[in-house]
Amino acid sequence: MNTIVCMKQVPSSNEVRMHPVTKTIVRDGNASVMNPFDSSALEQAVQLKQQRGGTITALSMGILQTQVLLKDAMSRGADKAVLLSDRGFAGADTLATSYTLSLGVKEIQKNIGAFDLILCGKMAVDGDTAQIGPELAQVLGIPYVTDVVEIVEASDTAITVRRIIDGGTQVVRVAYPALLTVVKEIQQPRLPSIASLKASLAKEVAVFTADAVGADGTRIGLNGSPTQVVETFIPEHSTQCVALTGDVASLCGQLKTIVQEVG
Ligand SMILES: Cc1cc2nc3c(=O)[nH]c(=O)nc-3n(C[C@H](O)[C@H](O)[C@H](O)COP(=O)(O)OP(=O)(O)OC[C@H]3O[C@@H](n4cnc5c(N)ncnc54)[C@H](O)[C@@H]3O)c2cc1C
Repeated sequence: MNTIVCMKQVPSSNEVRMHPVTKTIVRDGNASVMNPFDSSALEQAVQLKQQRGGTITALSMGILQTQVLLKDAMSRGADKAVLLSDRGFAGADTLATSYTLSLGVKEIQKNIGAFDLILCGKMAVDGDTAQIGPELAQVLGIPYVTDVVEIVEASDTAITVRRIIDGGTQVVRVAYPALLTVVKEIQQPRLPSIASLKASLAKEVAVFTADAVGADGTRIGLNGSPTQVVETFIPEHSTQCVALTGDVASLCGQLKTIVQEVG
């Protein structure tokens, strides 16, 4: 089974910085981690490979620093890693991101032949839209299943999965090639061994520019993003502690005043 796992580098908590003019997330210089949903997706791919063989390719669009996280993905079981990195990709909304990732998928196909599955996280913890998986499937013209929590069975031609729906779960069978978006609970990501860490250091991440994947300049980055972000900001929280004293009636009165003042 040939699987592609889409993996996004996200800022670690408390590290989100916004560009004051472009309103985009500033990724350079931030401490970053792999999107936790994608780590679970990778672990699922590794377990499918253990059952059915094949290859796992990790795919990301991001800044060059993302290579570090893709090497980490190789230490956790990915065979290969592809990074799409170019100034022209910067500022992409979900439409431009999914188009760009589709070019990466086509590049991977030149290397491994046909793929069976693409695994995406359900959502990225910074962008949070949960749009990329379905949009990427749409661009590639393949079926997709979202919110997958369990692989029930994988055969030579199709995969049966359990997905979360309102108030329960649903079992769906989908033929390859297909795309799944997975929730974190699908698998617990493994820790790499010392040996696999060392081996991953010797592996190369294949980095492709926009030209190298034949990107249409009108469909990538800010140029290819019809979404206009009017304002993006990090909410400011303030906390204040007040110790109330008195009898119950007095406490209730004081509380009522505070609640009314806070609105
Ligand atoms: C309205 C709107 C406007 C935006 N405008 C801008 C903008 O102007 N500039 C800007 O920089 N950003 C912008 N963004 C953010 C940008 O669109 C997203 O970071 C990016 O498209 C991925 O979407 P997401 O984070 O919501 O991913 P989700 O759809 O939540 O992610 C789901 C899964 O898709 C895969 N995935 C997502 N992104 C990648 C990636 N880069 N590489 C590999 N796999 C990936 C992962 O498997 C992930 O788990 C905007 C977002 C929104 C909602």
